[in-house]
Amino acid sequence: MTAPAVAAHGVTKRFGPFTALDGVDLDLMAGEVHGLIGSNGAGKSTLIKVLCGAYAPDGGRLEVEGRRVGNATPAQAERAGITVVHQETQLFPELTVADNIVVAAPNRRGRLMRDRRADHAEAAELLGTLGTGLEPGRRAGTLDLAEKKLLQVARALRARPKLLILDEPTAALEPRQSKLITDLVRRLAGDGLAVLFVSHDLDEVRLLCDRITALRDGRIVARLGRGEATPHGLVELVAGRTLANAP
Ligand code: ADP
Ligand code: MG
Repeated sequence: MTAPAVAAHGVTKRFGPFTALDGVDLDLMAGEVHGLIGSNGAGKSTLIKVLCGAYAPDGGRLEVEGRRVGNATPAQAERAGITVVHQETQLFPELTVADNIVVAAPNRRGRLMRDRRADHAEAAELLGTLGTGLEPGRRAGTLDLAEKKLLQVARALRARPKLLILDEPTAALEPRQSKLITDLVRRLAGDGLAVLFVSHDLDEVRLLCDRITALRDGRIVARLGRGEATPHGLVELVAGRTLANAP
């Protein structure tokens, strides 16, 4: 069996006396969209931050294609092949689409591209390959929310990651816009990328994802394959904390 693109083994993260992640195991396979669900405070963002090098875990280890990686910083994680698209759009509104893709985005080898024409050709080619319909010369500030998210994804892909992490990429989007994102995600996975997809939209997760992991209070409470997740079952999983705390 091939090693997962990225694996977390027994990852623990504490904030002072509080344990936000407690022995989390996760296998993210090339070619799969993996959904991550859980109520607010379950630990989803903390897990993402450990994977992308923003937080050092207090225990456990990370592997990329079977090799242990340090991921002490986001730059290290990116070099190891892990890239994240954060929920907040971090774009430069005054710059063009192409410039947003190339500005300050080190490529896989950590080299800053300096030849602007080559940069723009690369950005245009990337946009063409993705089939996003985004025009390289448009100013980012004029894009709608879905287009901004597509641009963030394009920028993340420039690092040629093995794992693309998307934190609530469709939050605040209308269904028709969300579909632009989820269609792209499906295609990227079809091309062999591993995707970790975090969403509050349980129907979207159920329809899009090959596997689903549910977090609650920093622990994994369910792992479901495609077809094992029912609408009601997912709601129950996410609502677990509320139910357990109900009088
Ligand atoms: P989710 O993304 O699933 O909503 P988070 O990973 O953001 O959950 O948070 C998990 C838990 O860890 C929450 O109880 C949160 O309050 C706590 N937490 C997250 N980040 C910090 C931090 N930097 N300092 C202290 N507690 C934190
Ligand atoms: Mg979060």
